[in-house]
Amino acid sequence: MQKSVSSVTFTTQGALRKSALRHANERLVLNAIRENPQLSRVEISRITGLSPSSITFIVKRLTKEKLVREEKVDGATQVGRPPTILQLAGNARYAIGVDISPHGSRVALADWTGQIHEMQEVEWNRDPEIVLRALHGAIRNFVSAKSGRRILGVGVSVPGTWDTTAQTITTAVNLGWTDVAVVPLLEKGFDVPLYFDNNANLSAMGERWFRSHGAKPLEDFVFVTLGEGIGTGIIVSGHVLHGAFGRAGEFGHMTLHPSGRYCLCGNRGCWEEYASERALLRSYHERTEGTRISIKDLVERARQRDAVALEVIEEGARSLALGVSNLIIGLNPEAIVVDSWAADAWDMVEKSVWTVLRERVPAAWLEGIRIYPSAHARDSSLLGAIALALTRYFHSFEHGEREEALTVHMR
Ligand SMILES: [Zn+2]
Repeated sequence: MQKSVSSVTFTTQGALRKSALRHANERLVLNAIRENPQLSRVEISRITGLSPSSITFIVKRLTKEKLVREEKVDGATQVGRPPTILQLAGNARYAIGVDISPHGSRVALADWTGQIHEMQEVEWNRDPEIVLRALHGAIRNFVSAKSGRRILGVGVSVPGTWDTTAQTITTAVNLGWTDVAVVPLLEKGFDVPLYFDNNANLSAMGERWFRSHGAKPLEDFVFVTLGEGIGTGIIVSGHVLHGAFGRAGEFGHMTLHPSGRYCLCGNRGCWEEYASERALLRSYHERTEGTRISIKDLVERARQRDAVALEVIEEGARSLALGVSNLIIGLNPEAIVVDSWAADAWDMVEKSVWTVLRERVPAAWLEGIRIYPSAHARDSSLLGAIALALTRYFHSFEHGEREEALTVHMR
């Protein structure tokens, strides 16, 4: 991910240009509002370190440009309640999120608060060109709609490895795609920047960006996606861990059972052969002499006390926990977030997950850790793609860069 401190420009003498300073402070305020959509002007001043008079000035301009709106809070007369709160104006800026999936891909038009306004679905095809052309058509429709919407970017979620340098999907085992040059096909004919990342990384990003109001952003956590395979999006100090060559997070292919089942990757006994949606369905299929059902049906059957379905879910929970125990010991996260079948069946699997973790992980690693299902159900990677598309706009003042911006301001 590129850092956008370049938005702060210096003259040859090192003094900050006035327009750049203004731009930097505006983004600082917008980002504070995005992260905490219930803030009063006083609180924004405290969070950003900008003076109350600067905040008044900036908010006035942002309001005039229709980027933010002020709202009266009920009970404003009570002592200690802010009279008004600031929010991003939902229709001011938009982003497009694309989620490529072997179960059909989705293209969503969302505003910059993450609210999805329109969605188009694209059927799966083994030929990447057919899928990409259809996705391009959907993106172009949203970009060229004569509605005057200002679209900040297109974020694309890829269920495989994304090579940033070559701008290529290098491997997507579950798609059966190898070395697919995506950009030339997707970017044709419109001038909106495209950003790509792996679906598990983006699920983690979506979880962090579009969290429930009032919740603190997670700084160190792992998002475990449990679809066709298993992917993990690892957030370290607020940033996605990509690794030296962009391949970090492929814990789905760590070996759990050295002589276990063969995996699509060529190895044996990979985690995803035991705890992914695909693995659970296969297990049910094998034990019921070929009954083919969907994952939703499997969870439903378990709820209705179907013995085989319960057994499959229970074994899945234990395998899930076995992999998660390794993540916890290795990464010491504050939270593990799961999606897919584990989220659907969380009330049935939570207890077994904790039982295994307590057996496998020293108590000190489990202190304070939270393990829970994503609130975004099956939209996590799509929302992450939308977050990715917005990142460049807001990114100047995320974490490390925020401090730098403040330092610049105080010179
Ligand atoms: Zn594997």
